[in-house]
Parts: sequence; C-alpha cells; structure tokens
Amino acid sequence: MIRFASVTKTFPNGKTALKQISFEIADGEMVGIIGPSGSGKTTILRLLINEIIPTEGEISVDDFQVHKLNRKKLPQLRRTIGSVFQDYKILTDRTVAENVGLILEILDLPDKEIAEKVTNALEMVGLSKTEDLFPAQLSGGELQRVAIARAMAMSPKILFADEPTGNLDSVTAKQISKILKEINGRGTTVIIATHDKGVLDFIKPRILQLEAGELIL
Ligand code: ADP
Ligand code: MG
Repeated sequence: MIRFASVTKTFPNGKTALKQISFEIADGEMVGIIGPSGSGKTTILRLLINEIIPTEGEISVDDFQVHKLNRKKLPQLRRTIGSVFQDYKILTDRTVAENVGLILEILDLPDKEIAEKVTNALEMVGLSKTEDLFPAQLSGGELQRVAIARAMAMSPKILFADEPTGNLDSVTAKQISKILKEINGRGTTVIIATHDKGVLDFIKPRILQLEAGELIL
C-alpha cells in the first residue's frame, strides 16, 4: 500500500512541484498518473523512491515511512519499487543479460540464480534469446522491454513506469502497455506516469490527474 498524505515538495530554488497531494494505491492496483509536462509526475516517483524528501507531508510504502526513512532501509525500499524511465537508462557497453542482471550482481546473488532470474524476466517481456545482444542491436521498444525486465528481475512489489512510451511510436507504445498490463495481471502494483492519455486507453487504469502540482482527479 502506497500512501501520500498532504505531500508538498518545494525545491531549493523555490519552485513548488507538488501541492498538498494525498492519494492511496492498494496492493495489486493499476494506476495511471496523467498530467502535462511539468505537472509533477516525476517528482512523485522521486519522492516514492526516497531520491528526494517532501517539504511537508508523509509518504509510506507498506511499513516504510519514506519521508523519514532510515538510510539502512533504503536498499530494501528500492527493491520494493522497480522503476522504468522514458530514456531506458540501459548501459550501452553491457549485454542485455548484464543490464537485466546488474542490480542482482550488486546484491551479490549466486550466478546461477541471477541467470535464472534474468531468463525469466526477459521471457516476461517477450525477449527470450536476446541475452547476448548489445543495446545497439535493439530497437527503442526492445530497449524499453529490457528496462522493464531489469526492473522486474528483482521481483519488486511495485513497478513505476515514468513516461515509458515517450520515445516510442504508437504501435510499439501499445505493445509496452500490454506488457505492463500483463505484469499487473500477475500481481505487481503498476503505476504509469504519462502526459499521453492515449497510452492508457488499452489498459484502463484508475486515473490520478495532476495539473500544475495539484491532484484534480
Ligand atoms: P513532470 O514529470 O510531470 O513533467 P516534474 O515532476 O519533472 O514534472 O516537474 C514538476 C515541476 O517541478 C516542473 O515545473 C519542474 O520544472 C520542477 N522541477 C523538477 N525538478 C526540479 C528541481 N530539481 N529543481 C527545481 N524545479 C524542479
Ligand atoms: Mg516527468
């Protein structure tokens, strides 16, 4: 369960990106956060993963009090929430398997377990047998699928996709939406932030609508 209670975020330059935002997302839900560019979508993700802290208000994810998180608990929180970004953030000098397994390597899991999780995650996004390819050999849609596999490889409870289809054509965008819907169907809470409402037509998530840092729906 994710809970934002009267959350306000004002950056050091005085810009208030979120004003008194309150919402709850239950386990297993599919939610679309929509709003134009600059409305505060990415700020919600950054607050959720404790990359930045709120100026006011409280944020919780299950038992994590994210707004006053003990630093020791940060890795645990980050494993609970998988993130996917518009620009993929795939390392170009590593293979697909190395990208998907990167976090598992950092967690120092046994090689065999990493290989298994990487295979399963790639299967989930329809990219079996691409393990040894390099990012330059993949299309944008495939790169985003690798990024989704990387997030899912650590079996997060929550998947947050921030403008996951922003750089993709509409056919490929629909394919990504379909994969995210399937992931939600298997029990993961999925949150998709997008300025493009059309991307959500196929998924039909519950909508949270942002307008200049305020939740209007
Ligand atoms: P969105 O993801 O919906 O496009 P953001 O959450 O990235 O919007 O940004 C919301 C607002 O906060 C924008 O006006 C943006 O310029 C501003 N903003 C974001 N990050 C910072 C920052 N680090 N410092 C100052 N202003 C910021
Ligand atoms: Mg954004």
